[in-house]
Amino acid sequence: METFKIVCPECTSVNTIKTQVQTIACTHCQAELDDPFPVEVSDESCSTHINENDIPVLVDFYSPTCGPCMAMYDDYEDAALGFPLKVRFLKVNSDEYQKVAREYGVSALPTIIAFKKGQEVNRISKQLSRVELSLWAQSLI
Ligand SMILES: [Zn+2]
Repeated sequence: METFKIVCPECTSVNTIKTQVQTIACTHCQAELDDPFPVEVSDESCSTHINENDIPVLVDFYSPTCGPCMAMYDDYEDAALGFPLKVRFLKVNSDEYQKVAREYGVSALPTIIAFKKGQEVNRISKQLSRVELSLWAQSLI
């Protein structure tokens, strides 16, 4: 049976799940792994999500004081809800977590970066609409 790895959105534990199972809970904290809601990550947890998830990962580097970033906030969330266990949507508060923003060479906000198995696929440094975000996520699957 085919398996794939999903990083828990709550506790950052790496779970190996089978493709046919019905309920998908983290073996460590019981959180729902198929919760599509964007995950706020830190310097530490960001790289675990990027490197350990077998599904594609989108990372939104934002700042609470950046107008276009906050204008995209709801659209990013809405787009994420369409991709449970297909694409993991992450958010990095770049004011709080400057280390990870530097590590990925983020110089403008918002910057959204797509990763597959830890490798950057592409990045866009501007506000995107819900439809643009959804199409991008769809193209990663
Ligand atoms: Zn967990």
